[in-house]
Amino acid sequence: MYSEGGLYSDYSTKEIPTDAIECEKMKTVVFSTVTDSNWIGYLLPKYSSFQKLLRVVAWCLRFVNNLRSLSHVQTRFLYAAELNQAHSIIIVHVQREVFFEKIQTLERKGQVSSQSKLVMLHPFLDDERILRVGGRLRNVNVPKSTKHPIVLPKSHYITELVVRHYHHKYLHGGSELILSALRMQYWIISARTVVRKVIRKCVACFRHKNVFSQQLMGDLPVSRVNPGRAFSKSGVDFAGPFQVKPRRGRGSIITAAVILDPQNLNNRKKFLKRKLKEGFGFPRERNQVKVFACNSLSSKTGETF
Ligand SMILES: [Zn+2]
Repeated sequence: MYSEGGLYSDYSTKEIPTDAIECEKMKTVVFSTVTDSNWIGYLLPKYSSFQKLLRVVAWCLRFVNNLRSLSHVQTRFLYAAELNQAHSIIIVHVQREVFFEKIQTLERKGQVSSQSKLVMLHPFLDDERILRVGGRLRNVNVPKSTKHPIVLPKSHYITELVVRHYHHKYLHGGSELILSALRMQYWIISARTVVRKVIRKCVACFRHKNVFSQQLMGDLPVSRVNPGRAFSKSGVDFAGPFQVKPRRGRGSIITAAVILDPQNLNNRKKFLKRKLKEGFGFPRERNQVKVFACNSLSSKTGETF
């Protein structure tokens, strides 16, 4: 550029007069442009976590506050008051976006239109201009957010973020649990539908509630579906031993079942009589043995024993 014979060779040889520099006065002009940009609306769709959105807005607010008061610049972690301020700003933005006409009417007339769906909630604007549910719990000794929950619209991204936040906070709880927790602070229009929709979208819940396919059971056997004499068709299975706690009086009932060889009837009767004499726990007046012949005895083909 400054080589000899080049396009700008004349400029390289000229000396800049120093007095001209001294005489020139430089003016510093600061332009301050105030735009009514929707910065909350710009940030909202960029985050899928309510907590993260809250913190980003809080950091933005701190940046603005630090510029406004350079003598008190804060650089440490976020305080609870800053997070609460960010929360209020987000809620006010969403409510103004969705319920703009209703809030205008409320500010003008002190109540919303009778045609509005919000009229049943008796809404009002609090000190931070947040739309809250009125109701009759003004004298209850509970936190303000519980007495007068914040009104949130049904179909808005911030509502989905709030519900998802509570769903994760309560360890992927069901719709009733999430609804109960949400109503401590928010009043979502058609909340049950919104909560179910969020839970349905949750991948973790979908994986855990997935039902395994089951084998189709076969037909019931003939002995179980046709009527017959008692014990004519019986089944055996392995179970026990049973722990029986003996008690005095009529509190305990002991039932004993004995399987004997059906071919030797005399031995069977002798065995039963001997056992009853020794005592099975039966009272004397019930020592009557009835013998039933078993035509069919089935087992589970050795599955359990
Ligand atoms: Zn879940």
